[in-house]
Order: sequence, then structure tokens, then C-alpha cells
Amino acid sequence: MAEAALFDTFARAPLRFERGEGVWLVTESGERYLDFGSGVAVNSLGHGHPHLVGALKAQADKVWHTSNIFEQPGQETLSRRLADNSFADKVFFTNSGAEALECAIKTARRYQFVKGHPERFHIITFEGAFHGRTLATIAAGGQAKYLEGFGPKVQGFDQVPFGDMDALKAAITDATAAILIEPIQGEGGVRPVPKEFLQALRQVCDDNGLLLIFDEVQTGVGRSGRLFAYEWAGVAPDIMALAKGIGGGFPLGACLATADAASGMTAGTHGTTYGGNPLATAVGNAVLDVILGEGFLENVRDVALVLRQGLASLKDRFPNVIEDIRGEGLLLGVKAKVPAGDLVAALRGEYMLAIPAGDNVVRLLPPLTVTAEEAREGLARIERAAEKLSASEMKKSA
Ligand SMILES: *Cc1c(COP(=O)(O)O)cnc(C)c1O
Repeated sequence: MAEAALFDTFARAPLRFERGEGVWLVTESGERYLDFGSGVAVNSLGHGHPHLVGALKAQADKVWHTSNIFEQPGQETLSRRLADNSFADKVFFTNSGAEALECAIKTARRYQFVKGHPERFHIITFEGAFHGRTLATIAAGGQAKYLEGFGPKVQGFDQVPFGDMDALKAAITDATAAILIEPIQGEGGVRPVPKEFLQALRQVCDDNGLLLIFDEVQTGVGRSGRLFAYEWAGVAPDIMALAKGIGGGFPLGACLATADAASGMTAGTHGTTYGGNPLATAVGNAVLDVILGEGFLENVRDVALVLRQGLASLKDRFPNVIEDIRGEGLLLGVKAKVPAGDLVAALRGEYMLAIPAGDNVVRLLPPLTVTAEEAREGLARIERAAEKLSASEMKKSA
């Protein structure tokens, strides 16, 4: 094995996966892990889904890349389907979530610019947010640990405490362009925003000529049990960022907008080399074939309920390990009493993958194709992990 020559930016777990099948990932040495992380909400249809594999292979035999200089049939189809199934009229494709957010931010600023308000370029965001790792999106997320040492913070992002409507209203000035929020904070610890708050944000935006931007990079494309999490609140944004689940593992993101919100994004104002290339959109279209299929989202909600109820009873049985269960659909957070990292490690000991998040939360993000039986298998593993952690907690306090 060659010695790696990688940046040290990731503290990687010592697991080497060679292949995957559905909710299972198999290491080089043949150990099978139950994957309730889905590559952080990316493998929406699990591993090796035959429809996705078929779509990618078929496209690979035709054409991989032509550049956005030329017409893109795959983008045309995928944009139409996203628009028909959302609030949006227009779509710009990217390779990642951060780029989808960059496009959303630029779209909001350009909107104000072409409406005669170039001074309106500030965007209000919320504490605990995560919007990506580019210079603008770390400024939007506002987390000191991601900003430190990277020079002056990009201007124009004003942050207010999570769920604080008074602070939000006080932060609006003549320079405000938009409000940016995740309907459920993912990295921040699976913190759902109350639907009344999202409804109030819509009103505040309408009253003040601001655009409402939803970051649904993690919550979108079925993860919440609806195609988009905003549907639960009955509140549509003007602009929305997607990525993660839309590509099912192939790098793909999208920025969706109403025709009015996108009115400043005229020819030449924005671009990308790879964004929405034929391979990516072939997979994106295949993901939608499945997720928009009859009964698919209903099944996501049914299996989510099995998981949720099982987790609630584990919380009752192991109050010294599990403090709370939260989230929506198959974006579930277990707020731990023990350090979240200990719970993730204990689950790994049971050959199960889960993802840590802020606020001492462990995220459970199984593929949306997970069956009720697989959900129960996951619950059994969480139970064994909780039993062990609970026993060692009791030993500590004895
Ligand atoms: C993951 C994530 C991003 C960033 O996506 P990348 O593809 O890593 O750039 C942005 N916003 C949210 C809510 C995310 O979960």
C-alpha cells in the first residue's frame, strides 16, 4: 500500500470500503456495515442501486462532457422536473452544495441590483447554520472554527440567534437583500425550525422586499419524507439550494429560483465548467425516476415512523445515554447524554455507521430505500450500543 500524500483536513475513521449493496457497505476485509450515514445524506438510494448504475453506465457509453457552451438535454429534462415539482421556475446546476449556495447568494444580490438596489447585498443567517466551506459560505455559516485563519470574513452576512424573531427583525436594514435558512439544521444538530417561524419569515420577506432562500442541500429530495422539507411548513422560498441526495453519490447540486428571483442572472453573469454535465444529470434524472415514483415518499414516511417510535422507546429505556430524538423523515437526530462521539464509536462497534453533528447529536440518515426490516435491524444495533454505554455509565457513577 502506497503512503498517502493527502492534506490533513479530514480526521478519517480507519475503515476502507470496497463495495456497497443497498444499506450495506462492505470493507476490503469483508466486514459488512449497516450504513445509516449514507455518505452524509448523499446516497439517497443506497449503494449500487441498479437504476442509477444503469443510467450512469448508459451515459458513459454516449458522452461524458461537452461544456455549458452547448445545449444540455439532461439539464433541460432535470430542470423541468425539478421546477414542475417545486415552487421554482428556473434551475442552475452545480457540482456541490457550497456552489449551489454561492449561486443562491449571487442570485439574491443580483436580484436587488437589477431592481435598482445595489446597496442591498446583506444576507441574514442563523447561528448553528452550515452552508458549505467556500469563503462566502463559511461567512454565511458564521462558525468561528471554520473562519479562523482564512483572512477577512466575506462581507455581507449578518447572523442572528436560532429562532429569534425579534433579533431577526432588528437585523434588517436598508442593506438587507435576503434571509437564508435551513428548514432543518443538519450539521448544527438536526434542529428543525418551527413551521410558524418559517411562515413568519415568509411574511417578513414579503413586507420588506427581501428574498427568502432555503438551504435544502441536506433536507431536500425526499430526506424529510416530502420531496422538499419546506412543504411541511407550507412556505415556499424564492431561491433554494440542493445537492447531496439529488446526485445519489454522483457530484451534483442545483440552485432553484422563481423567474422573478432569477431575473438578474442574465447571460454571462454566472457559470461553471462541470456543473450539470451529462453524467451528473443522467444520474440526477435517474434519482428522480425513483423518488417521484408512486408511493416512494409515503414509504419513506412509514419507515421513518418505525425508526422514530423505536428510538423513542430506546430513549425511555436508556435515559443516561439518549436525551432526545428529533428531526423529520429519515433525517433523525439522537441527542446524546454521553459524548456523541462515544455513541458513534459504540455503533461502529456494532457494525453500524452514523454521523455526528453539532449540539452533541448523532445523525441517522439511512438511504431512503431502507426497509422497515432494515430499520429494525438498525434499532437492534442501537439498542446493543446503548446497553453497553449505559452499563459503563452506571459503573462510572457507582
Ligand atoms: C453539506 C451541506 C452543504 C455543503 O455542501 P457541499 O457539497 O459539501 O459543498 C451546504 N448546506 C448544507 C445544509 C449541507 O448539509
